[in-house]
Amino acid sequence: MADNFKIGTGYDVHRLVEGRPLWLGGVKIPFIKGCLAHSDGDVLLHAIIDALLGALALGDIGNHFPDTDSRYKDISSVVLLQKTILLVKQRGFIIGNLDTTLVLQQPKVSSFISEMRLVIAKILETNIENVSIKATTTEGLGFSGTGEGVAAQAVVLLLKG
Ligand code: MG
Repeated sequence: MADNFKIGTGYDVHRLVEGRPLWLGGVKIPFIKGCLAHSDGDVLLHAIIDALLGALALGDIGNHFPDTDSRYKDISSVVLLQKTILLVKQRGFIIGNLDTTLVLQQPKVSSFISEMRLVIAKILETNIENVSIKATTTEGLGFSGTGEGVAAQAVVLLLKG
């Protein structure tokens, strides 16, 4: 019975810099800054990837997709999430649900959240009702509050399919 459920958490942070596109949840957001990273820097998808890997005790995103590997230079994090869900399916699990929080001061992302949920649900082969994305500011406090960076948290429940 215990093996029918697996829970995992993920957390990621990226620095925001000018001259990079801003990808969040697989959606390109119009903004003057984007995430500095070896990949496209999609902090939300990275947190989800780590939550999926964590649920199965498979290490973390850095083990699977090292930033020293030129194959992952500027790669879309959608591709990394696709590779990760394959590992989940190979072990006989499906998504129960996931709940995430984006932490950023700017830009306002509320109008993009439904598109992000659609993109993520499609990749994870689950219903959009199983994909929750919330966004918060930190009231101007800390690195996200000053716009220096963006953070994301994710919790995922996997079910034996
Ligand atoms: Mg990352």
